[in-house]
Amino acid sequence: MKWKNRGHEFDGVYDNIQKLDKYYLFGAGEYGEQICGLLEKELMILGFLDNDSRKQHTLYCGKMIYSLDEVEEKLDETTGIIVTVSPYTRLPVMQQLMQKGLAQDKQVFTMEMFMMVYAAYKNGKVYIPSISFLPSTRCNLRCEACLNFTPYMKHFDERPWEQIQADVDTFFSCIDYIMLFHISGGEPMLYPHMKKLVEYIDTNYRKKIHILRTVTNGTVLPKPELLDALAEHNVEVTVDDYREAVPNSVETFSKLLERLEKHQVKYEINKVDEWIDLAPLTTHHEDWSEQRLQNQFESCHVPWQELRDGKLFSCNYASYAMVAGLAKTDETEYFDLRSYTSEKRKELIEFRMGYNVKGYVEFCKNCSGYIDINPNKVEPAKQAAR
Ligand code: SF4
Repeated sequence: MKWKNRGHEFDGVYDNIQKLDKYYLFGAGEYGEQICGLLEKELMILGFLDNDSRKQHTLYCGKMIYSLDEVEEKLDETTGIIVTVSPYTRLPVMQQLMQKGLAQDKQVFTMEMFMMVYAAYKNGKVYIPSISFLPSTRCNLRCEACLNFTPYMKHFDERPWEQIQADVDTFFSCIDYIMLFHISGGEPMLYPHMKKLVEYIDTNYRKKIHILRTVTNGTVLPKPELLDALAEHNVEVTVDDYREAVPNSVETFSKLLERLEKHQVKYEINKVDEWIDLAPLTTHHEDWSEQRLQNQFESCHVPWQELRDGKLFSCNYASYAMVAGLAKTDETEYFDLRSYTSEKRKELIEFRMGYNVKGYVEFCKNCSGYIDINPNKVEPAKQAAR
């Protein structure tokens, strides 16, 4: 979105929040648990809503789970609904609520919107839902449709420890709480300072982080010391399952799971049916109007921003493209945390929710967009020729 009233874009949303005095959380899952834990001391949480009939009429976090139909008549003008469903599966739930005549940002709020606005306006705090942090772009795979653009890189960008440490310190000097700090890549298990990084974050900033997570492509075996550090510092690991696309990784994948179990690292396996290709070389939107580019940016719904060099980048894929030499960026596309002061708190949360000076980023001119709008569905992890 294009900034029109910088620092005041969410005044109206907070006015609406102030009219509410009780809430349901829609989504009795991991996010619901997190939000309930954060809010239940301050707000009246009446219970959860969930479309899964197996969950309904059971307790979750000590609260009853209902269907939307059951509570519909109780949804008066002082009752809000906070949607605590993953951004990836949220759309049908939002549509379901809109079909009941409920208005977004008036009675219905995404968890990100509610938490950021409530924290900033009510408590003077900066709450951030997530951040993507890449210590290195080095990767042993070469996926054709890599969202980090590995096949286009002339060399990997392996960042020195001093820069990484400075970024982490700068970030947490501005942020009071983050739901998910995600260490990504590249292949994070190949980053030589990975152990030091998780130790540093956990030791210094754990109170500000709900989930510290990293990812691996499932084709490398981390050293035992790193596995011990992941377990000790409570880092969750997403293990991408690329065994079909990379058949010679099958044995390594099994060994990796064994080692994660042995070292008691918390992990989950991620297997998806398709990827998207942002297609930076064949997408040409250079002749699009400003309005059309703004519409593209707004409908793209990229949930991530990247932290790099003391800045938050508006779209992490645009930022990755810049590092890979595929895109240019300008100062309108990042929020410089190094010059942050508390007076900029509301601007910062606006930026994190998708506001910036132009209402889009330059890379939108050569990008086919994120999941909701991208027509280029491709095979996951298909390897490019070396
Ligand atoms: S179109 Fe591409 S560059 Fe633009 S916001 Fe979406 S993912 Fe980012």
